[in-house]
Amino acid sequence: MPPVAVRVLVLGGTTEGRALASACAAMPGIEVISSLAGRTRSPLLPAGEVRIGGFGGVDGLAGFLRDRGIDAVVDATHPFAATMTEHAVAASALTGVPLLVLRRAGWAEQPGDVWHRVADLATAADLVPGLGERVFLTTGRQSIAAFAGVDACWFLSRSVEPPVPPLPQRVEVLLDRGPFTLEGERAVLAEHRIDVLVTKDSGGSAAKLGAARERGLPVVLVDRPPLPLATETAPSVEAALDWLAQAG
Ligand code: NAP
Repeated sequence: MPPVAVRVLVLGGTTEGRALASACAAMPGIEVISSLAGRTRSPLLPAGEVRIGGFGGVDGLAGFLRDRGIDAVVDATHPFAATMTEHAVAASALTGVPLLVLRRAGWAEQPGDVWHRVADLATAADLVPGLGERVFLTTGRQSIAAFAGVDACWFLSRSVEPPVPPLPQRVEVLLDRGPFTLEGERAVLAEHRIDVLVTKDSGGSAAKLGAARERGLPVVLVDRPPLPLATETAPSVEAALDWLAQAG
């Protein structure tokens, strides 16, 4: 067996994380280990080695990087997984293992969009009652608590796993995993007579935004948390592979 040239840790839980792991696994001279938080019971598993569960904070991650002889880390976590990214930045500084943050671009407003950008979920919860009664909530299972006190609205909450309480008084839970099609999103909005869509600015597949635009519905878009200063970033899997080629 030829020696492994570069051993990469991919912090995953996203489509990009899986795509990067597949690309790395297919490249000679790269060994890839993907890490998942363990939030979903049947996660889509990336190619290559996979470990599941938290590291135990910055020190735990730094220990993992040293113990496993990791040469480079790509943080491909979701743009809203801010704690994991903070920990990755700190562990990289502690160990000297280079870190790249892979972040797909956020969404850009198009003609016909009626967007309300807000800084956080609490502001979104304050805003929705003034925009409509029937709310399609797509911010993830851990975000629903922010809307628990909004009694003036009825919510359709969509997530892969059941939402984490407390829940709003009037809520219907829709368990589903993307990718979602424009036709499918049109049907959800029509069937549930949705007045307002709430989403994080995750980027990527935007079928729900297209369906909301067609119906002229207001969209409350929660902005991404800022990245730690001086973090090296790449917008795509291809750019991350170029960075890895240089890191090797
Ligand atoms: P978070 O708040 O940033 O992280 C909380 C803790 O979870 C971290 O300190 C770490 O525990 C552990 N963790 C998070 N991501 C991990 C990973 N990839 N591998 C190992 N441990 C991880 O994270 P989150 O927002 O709960 O997201 C958890 C996972 O779901 C991430 O992998 C993310 O990519 C994915 N995801 C998140 C969202 C979202 O909206 N936040 C959406 C889609 C997918 P320790 O401190 O013990 O290491």
